[in-house]
Amino acid sequence: SMGASAAETGEKAPHAVCVPYPAQGHITPMLNVAKLLHARGFEVTFVNSEYNHARLLRSRGAAAVAGVDGFRFATIPDGLPPSDDDDVTQDIPSLCKSTTETCLPPFRRLLADLNDDTAGRPPVTCVISDVVMGFSMAAAKELGIAYVQLWTASAISYLGYRHYRLLINRGLTPLKDAEQLTNGYLDTPVEDVPGLRNMRLRDFPTFMRTTDPDEYLVHYVLRETERTAGAAAVILNSFGDLEGEAVEAMEALGLPKVYTLGPLPLLAHEDQLLRPTPSSGISLSLWKEQEECLPWLDSKEPGSVVYVNFGSITVMTAAQMVEFAWGLAHSGKQFLWIVRRDLVKGDAAVLPEEFLAETAGRGLMASWCPQQQVLDHPAVGAFLTHSGWNSTLESMCGGVPVISWPFFADQQTNCRYQCNEWGVGMEIDSNVQRDAVAGLITEIVDGEKGEEMRKRAGEWKEKAVRAALPGGSAHRNLEGLVRDVLLAKN
Ligand code: UDP
Repeated sequence: SMGASAAETGEKAPHAVCVPYPAQGHITPMLNVAKLLHARGFEVTFVNSEYNHARLLRSRGAAAVAGVDGFRFATIPDGLPPSDDDDVTQDIPSLCKSTTETCLPPFRRLLADLNDDTAGRPPVTCVISDVVMGFSMAAAKELGIAYVQLWTASAISYLGYRHYRLLINRGLTPLKDAEQLTNGYLDTPVEDVPGLRNMRLRDFPTFMRTTDPDEYLVHYVLRETERTAGAAAVILNSFGDLEGEAVEAMEALGLPKVYTLGPLPLLAHEDQLLRPTPSSGISLSLWKEQEECLPWLDSKEPGSVVYVNFGSITVMTAAQMVEFAWGLAHSGKQFLWIVRRDLVKGDAAVLPEEFLAETAGRGLMASWCPQQQVLDHPAVGAFLTHSGWNSTLESMCGGVPVISWPFFADQQTNCRYQCNEWGVGMEIDSNVQRDAVAGLITEIVDGEKGEEMRKRAGEWKEKAVRAALPGGSAHRNLEGLVRDVLLAKN
């Protein structure tokens, strides 16, 4: 109702400026939030880094970032020096540091420019910022406009980061020496962690695995997550049936109200059926998707394909890649394996000729795919994943069980819950071996444990769909957020 009445009465529309952290797993959920607001009559300005803007131009063409009526793109620099290769995932610690230290002045200028627009664009009325782009809070507060943060990962991982304080206070981190990384110390149970269950040290986000009391990322995530207390609301890409207990624990830490809008891909999809808008079709995939993956899956039996994808950031050694390759080969199953251009450290990934010969006809390799569509495809029976949060939710939305090889950050915590609490996953040792890969694949596709996990994943899928349907929790929370926070007169 908001959009139509604003246009009809000549009243100015509300104007949301969306500030994602410039990595794929953060951009996608922010885009879904932006589309939901656009469909409710908001003007939207979506802020990309200059680096990603250039990548989008190359991978998707000028039309992709041209915007549509009432939905525009803007850019700010990310503060990193130019790199030799301008089409790779940027170094995450460097990007955290550079955005924190350099983005506020250009962001402040952007807001001033938007408010000073001679074309008559409505003034900015709210900022939706990624939690880890918390520099934006100062600029929004200077203008006295509503400021909301989006945490794009799980509630349990937010708690994992916040409770670094607790680990420091109990003397559990920093580590005494590097030995503690390998001598079983990380298996230490950590009792009484508010909002979390059955945690061991190794289940906390990985940045605490350091001997350095001044480790940049530890203090960075503490500062950014604690700063969330100053927002007017927090948006979470999760749902109450899955993470209700952790969400309550978040609020108990002194945060403003947490609005669970997840799973966002489902909510955005449902919303587009009800309120199609010109922004519905916008995609901000930083790599070009290889569409041939879907017709290939069409030719396969239900549940027969193992889908392998480690997301947008994971890097592995050439040796680890070879172990995964032989594990897939020895499992005898069909597979779709996405190997990002920059997946392997150093040189480009080279797979053994014998592996390619042995798996010809039953394996498809590609460099990027439309992942949610792949996970929704009936042919996909299991997902070998790094347990990034988007991938974790997308696999639940597809009802697909996982084999998890967490790489870094929050993936460890997500993996623990997938395996130990949610009943949808089995973990592979970080020191990956081909026999373990083959064994877990056989178990998940053919075994009883796999059958049980598939059933659980199907149940989570039903709950996820219920949250995102009209009348469900995500829908109700979105309406509440818009009415009580974004449109509230302050
Ligand atoms: N993704 C995709 N195609 C690919 C690989 C990844 O569309 O070939 C998407 C995936 O659907 C997810 C995001 O990229 O939405 C990755 O986010 P996630 O949180 O899983 O992991 P990250 O990349 O942040 O480690």
